[in-house]
Amino acid sequence: MSATTAPNGVDVAGRHPVADPSKVSNPYKPVGDYISNISNFKIIESTLREGEQFANAFFDTETKINIAKALDDFGVDYIELTSPVASEQSKKDCEAICKLGLKAKILTHVRCTMDDAKVAIETGVDGLDLVIGTSHFLREYSHGKDMAYITRQALEVIEFVKSKGVEVRFSSEDSFRSDLVDLLSLYKAVDKAGVNRVGIADTVGCATPRQVYDLVRTLRGVVSCDIETHFHNDTGCAIANAYCALEAGATHIDTSVIGIGERNGITTLGGLMARMIVADREYVMGKYKLSKLKEIEDMVAEAVEINIPFNNPITGFCAFTHKAGIHAKVGIVIFDPYHFKRMPLGLAAILQNPSTYEIIDPADFGMTRYVHFASRLTGWNAIKTRVSQLGLEMSDDQVKFVTAKIKALADVRPIAIDDADSIIRAFHLTLGEHPEKNMDAAAAAIPTA
Ligand SMILES: [Zn+2]
Repeated sequence: MSATTAPNGVDVAGRHPVADPSKVSNPYKPVGDYISNISNFKIIESTLREGEQFANAFFDTETKINIAKALDDFGVDYIELTSPVASEQSKKDCEAICKLGLKAKILTHVRCTMDDAKVAIETGVDGLDLVIGTSHFLREYSHGKDMAYITRQALEVIEFVKSKGVEVRFSSEDSFRSDLVDLLSLYKAVDKAGVNRVGIADTVGCATPRQVYDLVRTLRGVVSCDIETHFHNDTGCAIANAYCALEAGATHIDTSVIGIGERNGITTLGGLMARMIVADREYVMGKYKLSKLKEIEDMVAEAVEINIPFNNPITGFCAFTHKAGIHAKVGIVIFDPYHFKRMPLGLAAILQNPSTYEIIDPADFGMTRYVHFASRLTGWNAIKTRVSQLGLEMSDDQVKFVTAKIKALADVRPIAIDDADSIIRAFHLTLGEHPEKNMDAAAAAIPTA
């Protein structure tokens, strides 16, 4: 680092660093905190449980097995499956996945009753995720049980599951609308009974990151077991809530691929990866096979017949596409919005440090950066990159001139890469052997709208 560069890597003129980014300390790394699990979290992947509750989802056995294998290869810690009590086929599928011998532990999500727990144990799962509603809404309108009854029942089922030698998690449903005192005393009791995890679920998607932090932080002080969290995305907070939960001491995050689940779903696996890699790249890169993310998302998207949303973190079609001229200086690859063609440029075309406008390196996920240069927002650096990709030579003045022509045409109508290329080529052709002298003639040769 030079003498003109501040410790955070920003130089004396306030510009972003142009040095090797790996040598600059990460300014986005969270401040150290003894309860935070930002650098030590586990994923409970629920595409095959929560995801099955998605409106479009119907997974046959083969699809379930393919998804489970892909998630296991990706490196998730747990795979959660639909309750075997749900249907006869659900039970068979659960047994089939348990027999695959995956590295990931297999869980199934069941109601906190002896009947459900007995069926679940027989499938051969590594653990049971027990759930019961504790909010007054659920107590009043769903199962109608009081807290003393819920606690007694929970302890009985937990003791049974533990006696079978498998993991047990106990979770409330709709935790953020449950009475805090009720919730904490119930969790204290199940912790004492020896559960592996307690779970907090924002079943209706109402919680804010601050509420999550407060509740998990409070719970962290009450139980000694692990804390799993489950966030619905009705108000768009699912990823932020997951992050805050980890900051407050939660240990496990529930995810699903592309977030599929009830209503508009839960914390997305890819979105969580995007969030976490910024906080601790080493941990995330060391644990998860990020280059497989797109493949898994495509597999699930196809299975439930949806497209990957355009604004999806990492894999949305424009997640690493730069359009504005001031951004396009980063350009190494160009993008044709009308044909969705992607063409690699030469390595020599990296013009400046991409981290100026990107917090995530697409290469970490096996993805590539794109520069969308055929638009009126383009800049001469993007065009200069395109000129060299076409194998042409032009002075900066000439590039600026032809850029102005491209922008003028793009102001009149949407243009494709072919339009921009033909402007560049026509201009270059007429420049001839003495380019400086032929600017006017070259200009006259440029095709118009
Ligand atoms: Zn849910």
